[in-house]
Amino acid sequence: ILARGRDVCRRNGLLILSVLSVIVGCLLGFFLRTRRLSPQEISYFQFPGELLMRMLKMLILPLVVSSLMSGLASLDAKTSSRLGILTVAYYLWTTFVAVIVGIIMVTVIHPGGAAQKETTEQSGKPIMSSADALLDLIRNMFPANLVEATFQQYRTKTTAIVKSPKVAPEEATPRQILIYGVQEENSSHMQNFALDLTPPPEVIYKSEPDTSDGMNVLGIVIFSATMGIMLGRMGDSGTPLVSFCQCLNESVMKIVAVAVWYFPFGIVFLIAGKILEMDDPTAVRKKLGFYTVTVVCGLVVHGLFILPLLYFFITKKNPIIFIRGILQALLIALATSSSSATLPITFKCLLENNHIDRRIARFVLPVGATINMDGTALYEAVAAIFIAQVNNYDLDFGQIITISITATAASIGAAGIPQAGLVTMVIVLTSVGLPTDDITLIVAVDWALDRFRTMINVLGDALAAGIMAHICRKDFVRDTGTEKLLPFET
Ligand code: ASP
Repeated sequence: ILARGRDVCRRNGLLILSVLSVIVGCLLGFFLRTRRLSPQEISYFQFPGELLMRMLKMLILPLVVSSLMSGLASLDAKTSSRLGILTVAYYLWTTFVAVIVGIIMVTVIHPGGAAQKETTEQSGKPIMSSADALLDLIRNMFPANLVEATFQQYRTKTTAIVKSPKVAPEEATPRQILIYGVQEENSSHMQNFALDLTPPPEVIYKSEPDTSDGMNVLGIVIFSATMGIMLGRMGDSGTPLVSFCQCLNESVMKIVAVAVWYFPFGIVFLIAGKILEMDDPTAVRKKLGFYTVTVVCGLVVHGLFILPLLYFFITKKNPIIFIRGILQALLIALATSSSSATLPITFKCLLENNHIDRRIARFVLPVGATINMDGTALYEAVAAIFIAQVNNYDLDFGQIITISITATAASIGAAGIPQAGLVTMVIVLTSVGLPTDDITLIVAVDWALDRFRTMINVLGDALAAGIMAHICRKDFVRDTGTEKLLPFET
């Protein structure tokens, strides 16, 4: 038994460490909350977690560009268009199913009945109009400057100007100090801060086009995929660039293989650091407990039943084995709240544990991390209907349909970064005339829900790769002989 145990530990060492790090992170976070650390101490404490995020983000650009360009260039036109159409159709379909699950859950549990609308009305305009959000999505698809797209995405920014801070600095929470310190903050900080304070301070919102930090992954995906398809059509003259991309892809994966040993350590501090920052859990429990339960139940139904069943019916393979193979990616998604940052690990798990054809993973995963967000779509539908329930606003059937379509669109528009879904939710709310300011109602629990929905987003992408590998297996067998493989890939 001892020998068997040692063998299991050796083979799953990293996974076991990652699970332990989540548990240790939670315990450490709750323990340190009782110690009332200063904001500066918290920021020092968060440093190892920050390093983990920086490492992952560093790998996204070379990984997305190299995988899409080399992946698509190595497919013939027929195979790549078939894979492209099937993948996008599958993504849209499963996202829509997730939305329906969310709508059923929120209608049955009816969390809005238990919550009282406690936040006072806020001054100012809506945080962002849905037209702005849609235009931003399209702008991001076509970055005007590719270099800029690697560190900025376009977003209509709303500045909130605090007119009358009402909390004495010694009584303020770390977040309030941050906001008062700078006086002007973006809308998501403002929502947190409006919830922290009663009565809320006077705020003026100002909307203006601006670029915001964070990579424009959507723009880079569109550019790299187009380049990959064109390279594939160029024949021999495209070979040097294709070989370069294959080599780049392989070397990034080798960096990932080394970096993963740091991740369990980083996860502890990432999770504990977030727990140190969070709002008072007892205040949140009263108002948002049922809402949180509704979202989590929806995510569980979709992620643990619907998607695995779909995988089983299509591939006739055991989904539990498949999911076990990507557990590490799911833990990283839980720790980072970012499907883009998790991408390198999702790749690693799929290639090494689930043996998915690399040409399929190279296309399905980066596209999925950008447009396929089942968890986000489900959450957007639940949140919108919850806000309607809190406001005693009866939605008719047509409005429910509108919510299901816009929640799907909003999830496609959300970037794979923390709390992106909160921003694009404006599209859903304005589509049925719900007050966008009421996003403030759910902000307090969003950081936690974001982690769970990101896990489902990553799970959806990985299962899609498994399903596509099964459906397209004949095309890929035929293609193997023609793929331009480098010596170390054979
Ligand atoms: N954090 C999510 C992701 O990266 C997006 C969101 O729902 O906010 O997949």
